[in-house]
Amino acid sequence: MADYREMWKELGMDVETHDQLCEVLPMAFTDVYLSQKNRPENMGYFDFVVSEIHGVRPAELVKAQKENGTKVFGTFCVYVPDEVIFAAGGIATGLCGGSQFWVPGGEKVLPTNTCPLIKASVGARLDGTCPFFKIADMYVGETTCDGKKKAWEILGEEVPMHIMDLPQMKRRKDYKAWSEEIVEFKEKVEEFTGNKVTEENLAASIKMINDKRRALERLYSARKNKNIPISGKDSLLISQIAFYDDPTRFTEMTNKICDELDKRVEEGVSVFESGTKRILLAGTPLAIPNWKIHNIVETSGGAVVCEEMCTGTRYFERPVDETQTTLEGQIDALAERYMGINCACFTPNNARIDDIIRLCKEYDVDGVIDVNLKFCNLYDTEGFLVERELKKAGIPVLGIETDYTDSDVQQLRTRVGAFIEMLDR
Ligand code: SF4
Ligand code: SF4
Repeated sequence: MADYREMWKELGMDVETHDQLCEVLPMAFTDVYLSQKNRPENMGYFDFVVSEIHGVRPAELVKAQKENGTKVFGTFCVYVPDEVIFAAGGIATGLCGGSQFWVPGGEKVLPTNTCPLIKASVGARLDGTCPFFKIADMYVGETTCDGKKKAWEILGEEVPMHIMDLPQMKRRKDYKAWSEEIVEFKEKVEEFTGNKVTEENLAASIKMINDKRRALERLYSARKNKNIPISGKDSLLISQIAFYDDPTRFTEMTNKICDELDKRVEEGVSVFESGTKRILLAGTPLAIPNWKIHNIVETSGGAVVCEEMCTGTRYFERPVDETQTTLEGQIDALAERYMGINCACFTPNNARIDDIIRLCKEYDVDGVIDVNLKFCNLYDTEGFLVERELKKAGIPVLGIETDYTDSDVQQLRTRVGAFIEMLDR
């Protein structure tokens, strides 16, 4: 990585502790990623972004803040409509932490039995070891799970925090409530940025984010082929980068790799041996740099062909209706699209099970691994219904619970290996 120490110091980061992260991350990346064979050439861009993850994009954000007075909004959930932020001339960036490195910092203030995603996110801020957490002028939280709701109170002491009240059911009145919540969010963003959201700039940002969704849809479609032109690990990396990168550039680079994948499909190129079992991962999000389960599956005789996760299909499926011409209509269209995401924080949430079964067919899946981040009560509890319904549908399923440590890797490898072997019979 180039030298960004001056920037990190200016941001008030703990540069010495951060150096330790800078040492381990490239090693993990080399082991998991660069060891793969026959990777698409256009992964080069995404490898570069990850190798400079705390440098190149943060430097762009700082530049936009200093030179143009741009406001940066840090978000933690796929329900937050980035479109509103970009329409007001702001920049949205994902803040979910996916490394064990940040967990002990979170445990200083949170109960140990909090999910690692929340602990890592809080730790990254409190320890001063992630530039994105320092750069964001405002955090946008949501009322999804209990752990997050309480974490906002701690993070809100550090940074201005706006919390969106996400309904937990999907009745007509809940859609209406979410529309109203988006209107309130729009007003907050307008006040904070000093810029008005208009029909024109909102239409442009809806199109920009839809283009990103369409590019990801293309990437995922390539994985539906019998010959799989890209590994699950590489696809996951692209999905994770989608939360941080400049959306227009990201779309361009993702479409570029999709052109290469289309060519590979035409030529029958696969990165897996024929007969490799096709696995769908369902469950809790895998924030960067959490590559653990993909790595285990893909070094145990399986290929991850789809993720029914927030770092997966929940992020990009179903674009926002672009035909609305009034602010009111556009906001209702946003509400409609975002309320269509099926997170376990909703009850009932049968549509998520329907989604998983549909995706199994679309991606011609041999088996599902239902991944739960330790201490996520919502997905853990919903796992019972998910696994029961998948079995009823004749789809083999393995439920696993894990965290960000390496302590269970061997045990998981044994279980995942046995599951994949069983799919052969
Ligand atoms: S799992 Fe639910 S709460 Fe977590 S990011 Fe996804 S939608 Fe948000
Ligand atoms: S994984 Fe579960 S507990 Fe963790 S932030 Fe998401 S919904 Fe909350």
